[in-house]
Amino acid sequence: PNSKAGDGKPRLLLMGQRRSGKSSISSVVFHKLPPGETLYLETTTHIKKESMHSFMDFQVWDLPGQFNYFDPEFDVENIFDEIGALIWVIDAQDEYLEAIGRLNQTILNLQSRYPSINIEVFVHKVDGLSEDYKSDTFRDIIQRVQDELSDHGYENAPVSFYQTSIYDHSIFEAFSKVIQKLIPQLPTLEALLNSLCAACRIEKAYLFDIMSKIYIATDTSPTDIGSYEICSDYIDVVIDISEIYGWDRPAEEGKKELIETGNNDAESLITMERKGNNYLYLREINKYLALICLMGDDSPQDKKSIIDYNVGVFQAALKQVFPRADREQLQPE
Ligand code: GDP
Repeated sequence: PNSKAGDGKPRLLLMGQRRSGKSSISSVVFHKLPPGETLYLETTTHIKKESMHSFMDFQVWDLPGQFNYFDPEFDVENIFDEIGALIWVIDAQDEYLEAIGRLNQTILNLQSRYPSINIEVFVHKVDGLSEDYKSDTFRDIIQRVQDELSDHGYENAPVSFYQTSIYDHSIFEAFSKVIQKLIPQLPTLEALLNSLCAACRIEKAYLFDIMSKIYIATDTSPTDIGSYEICSDYIDVVIDISEIYGWDRPAEEGKKELIETGNNDAESLITMERKGNNYLYLREINKYLALICLMGDDSPQDKKSIIDYNVGVFQAALKQVFPRADREQLQPE
């Protein structure tokens, strides 16, 4: 299991060379820093442990790029024993051969000692690249990693690749996929969302972690980035509103966190709104999670009571899946 950590939570490790974008990624995704302001961030020169006060409460360890993690001096056990996924950030706008070399070395080391850790390669900063160059670079990087792995007899290593940028939603989309692999209850969540969609003629339903805007599950109909964008933008509205009416939000870093015991229906925020050709329905599920549904034009406002009812059923089922919406229920197997 990947959950030996003292706090029992799935942990992500963010690695990559200096200036590849690690600090920027964690600042934008977890601290809502506007992407343009990452230009003024200090590059990572030390190990940075951050605790995320969200549904998963995973950690990002921002490690400096020039560090040799497999140096005997370094406490490898302590780091790798506890993580569920290693995110390796490669700057696609820069020379990447050296980065690939280090990535391959790291993967080989992990494969022999920690074969269950997911390795998630973020081919990052793709915003600055032309479409052609972007896809050539992506293919080239995948090829170079896979060649190295098969040379060493690792044909089925758990390595995945994503094209990411902090200037659009791709970084959130990639994080969502990484996180979903660490949630053992994902198939159940997807099945619940599927039946909700079928019952209410919902086009797309997402279960969002409100703080990070990572979605921890969606129904299994095809996902297009457009619907994710519409739904995630809608959360910003909710966060503002809920600061006034809603939950007691998790405290700032350093403060003792609260254990959320479940939903308090009286405070749960429910809204439905027309957005262009769509209707958006949002309901807070608990302190950390919100359900957001996207419906077509043919879903008039008077259907809301049917949706409210079915979402109530969904919410009750979710409580069975996560009897307590706290971290103990979310350990990876
Ligand atoms: P670290 O050393 O790996 O922590 O890298 P930083 O987070 O300090 O980022 C280095 C530089 O890359 C900064 O100037 C960021 O603004 C820039 N950067 C990070 N992510 C992106 C991205 O997605 N696109 C572009 N164009 N620049 C990025």
